[in-house]
Amino acid sequence: MKKNYDIAVIGAGIIGMATAYYLSQSGLKTAVIEKKYIGSGSTGRCISGIRQQFSTPTSIGIMKESISLFSQMEEEFGFSVDFKKNGYLLMAHNQDLLNTFQANIDVQRKEGVNVSLLGPQEAQSLVPALNIQALLGAAYCPDDGQAYPFSVLKGYKNGIDENKGDFYLYDPVQEIQQETHFLLTLQSGTLIEADKILLCAGPWTRELGQKLGLDLPFYPERHEAIITERTPKVIEPMLVDYRKDGCYFQQLLTGQIIGCYTPDPNVPGIRQDSSLEFLLEMAQRMIRLIPELKKAAILRHWAGCYTMTPDGNPIVDQTPVDNCYVASGMSGHGFMFGPGICKHLAHYMVHDKWDSDFSEFSINRTFQSKESLK
Ligand SMILES: Cc1cc2nc3c(=O)[nH]c(=O)nc-3n(C[C@H](O)[C@H](O)[C@H](O)COP(=O)(O)OP(=O)(O)OC[C@H]3O[C@@H](n4cnc5c(N)ncnc54)[C@H](O)[C@@H]3O)c2cc1C
Repeated sequence: MKKNYDIAVIGAGIIGMATAYYLSQSGLKTAVIEKKYIGSGSTGRCISGIRQQFSTPTSIGIMKESISLFSQMEEEFGFSVDFKKNGYLLMAHNQDLLNTFQANIDVQRKEGVNVSLLGPQEAQSLVPALNIQALLGAAYCPDDGQAYPFSVLKGYKNGIDENKGDFYLYDPVQEIQQETHFLLTLQSGTLIEADKILLCAGPWTRELGQKLGLDLPFYPERHEAIITERTPKVIEPMLVDYRKDGCYFQQLLTGQIIGCYTPDPNVPGIRQDSSLEFLLEMAQRMIRLIPELKKAAILRHWAGCYTMTPDGNPIVDQTPVDNCYVASGMSGHGFMFGPGICKHLAHYMVHDKWDSDFSEFSINRTFQSKESLK
């Protein structure tokens, strides 16, 4: 059985779903091919944070657009995606980081982001339960927030269905051949012919690219997360503690507290196994920051991947293989970047020209300058 499409999108995480949504709106015949189920990769494992506090105008601009798109979703999809501007509070316990916050705030304000530097007491009046011992200051943006990834994916799915896009689920792409068109062989034996393809398979994008002889610099690493049972309201903004033994967590609209930390050293590879070490450590780190969380019960614990690049920025571009595009390496920010990045990417794939400056995400960049706010 052979099916023909204008565009085949490989991977149904936030990046594949958002791009396919916008592509299908342009009237292109679009297929979404997914190894397992929609959101089964990193997207369904994220902790749903959305922030504009980045260090470069490109990332800040994308995030401003994403926030605007998240805020329109309820009207666009016809149901709530639990988007809420509960803010992000980034905490500095050393002077260097505080200086970095100040430098970034200057850039962010120039880009129109409502962000300010708070002293420890101001941070505590925002979050009365916060332990401010050793805290030097914090960057706070009340317009950052959260949304529920599964509802966002459902909204995109409904839109793609309405625009007559097709889904191939539980059916991984096994082979990719390029002649005049791309010919994809799925595990079921189905053959998909497409004029253009998008590689957006999250941590698996590198191995997908290898099928076309591409060597894409994506380096997956494991990140674990926990969620508590519902607890009475204790924090409003996402708390980000950048200490080497810090962590980040927020309270969902539904009352649970969800969070992670970045392990040091990193745990490289495509890993979705979770560890007792993380569970014990994360609980301690959260309690250090918000002592009253010692009463909270942990409900669940899981792991997924960050797909890193050498500079901590995504690669969103056409590859050296004509008509083969890539969008991956979201480096821990793909859920929040998704709507903004994918709207521009879809435009590029349809019109062959960018409607925004994406050179920072180019495949040919030097990867020398790093995003300072991980
Ligand atoms: C614990 C944790 C917390 C996080 N918290 C946040 C957060 O607060 N905010 C934020 O913005 N980001 C967060 N992230 C990062 C975010 O989850 C990712 O950046 C984002 O989900 C990446 O989306 P994606 O579409 O690129 O990849 P994925 O969601 O991984 O989707 C890729 C899909 O491709 C499919 N696939 C793979 N190989 C094939 C194949 N051969 N054929 C077909 N399909 C294939 C996979 O099954 C998968 O579903 C977090 C990540 C983790 C792990």
